[in-house]
Amino acid sequence: MSFRALLLEEKEGKVSGAVAAIDDAKLPPGDVTVAVDYTTLNYKDGLILANKARLVRQYPHVPGIDFAGTVSESGNPGFKPGDKVVLNGWGVGERHWGGMAEKARVKGDWLVKLPAAISTKRAMAIGTAGYTAMLCVMALEDHGLKRDAPVLVTGAAGGVGSVATAILAKLGYNVTAMTGRADQTDYLKSLGASAVVDRAEFANGPAKPMDSTRWAGAVDTVGGKVLATVLTQMAYGASVAACGNAAGADLPTTVLPFILRGVNLLGVDSVMCPGPQRKEAWARLARDLPLDKLDAMTSTATLADAPALAEKILKGQVRGRTVIEVKG
Ligand code: NDP
Repeated sequence: MSFRALLLEEKEGKVSGAVAAIDDAKLPPGDVTVAVDYTTLNYKDGLILANKARLVRQYPHVPGIDFAGTVSESGNPGFKPGDKVVLNGWGVGERHWGGMAEKARVKGDWLVKLPAAISTKRAMAIGTAGYTAMLCVMALEDHGLKRDAPVLVTGAAGGVGSVATAILAKLGYNVTAMTGRADQTDYLKSLGASAVVDRAEFANGPAKPMDSTRWAGAVDTVGGKVLATVLTQMAYGASVAACGNAAGADLPTTVLPFILRGVNLLGVDSVMCPGPQRKEAWARLARDLPLDKLDAMTSTATLADAPALAEKILKGQVRGRTVIEVKG
């Protein structure tokens, strides 16, 4: 038996990907085999497909840091054939073959059973980007964010940003979306943003060591000088959930926001996030993410489209979320 997958090969330091048939015997070790319905394109998939961050050490490799599908074989007491499951992270698509394939074999402990309200297609419309957005919202709430409060979302037209905007607006927060793409203003307002601000105002770093307070909370997907600027504008005791580095991995800040205003910088990691928190995030997504907004931010693509889409996501040219149909 064989299955179709996007296979990455490395030749003379260059990585290229093509759809290929792979023998089932080559599947990696694991106690659960999943018939994958959908995977998706996340920023990290872009880095892996374009070989930008040396995240993959061994080729040939099947990328895809997440997938949703149906269990076909299980040696794990927590899962049985027919269960609908989702996987995010744990090094899948990096150190372990991933979701850009019709079949995946993984440790059952890495899987989450999908809430009944979320189909496998919508699970991947959410993807790791959307699940991370939910983790960010949960982190802000755990640190006391109050409904109606002004919340900033950076990189708002991207995957994490779009989902964060839609969730926060549905929950009743007053969301300002930051974007570098003025032509996405109507899109961001349709997701529930009450205002849209230009990334250029933030991109050169803080104008002064501390600025007037503007935000009671922020979801930051970009890092760098943008995050440094946002920190100077946070209200007393407010929190920023920092999950991304689309603008850079550096953080040219001072300690002043922390020691003068008690600002909290909350790190959010989806990859090694413990099981109970993952399950809570997926349960919350079923409840708090409006499906019409999710559908409006989602495009579909095939495995063969993935390498070209990877280049686009790294240039900040992909809007919202992209589901990849593995049988397409
Ligand atoms: P996307 O590419 O979909 O979104 C990123 C957005 O950032 C872009 O759409 C753009 O938004 C903005 N952006 C792009 N380049 C720059 C730049 N140079 N300066 C400022 N803003 C920029 O990616 P995702 O939403 O999937 O991921 C966002 C980030 O979150 C990535 O860094 C990713 O690695 C990280 N991430 C982290 C996770 C974790 O576990 N911590 C999990 C998932 C993602 P706009 O055009 O609106 O300005």
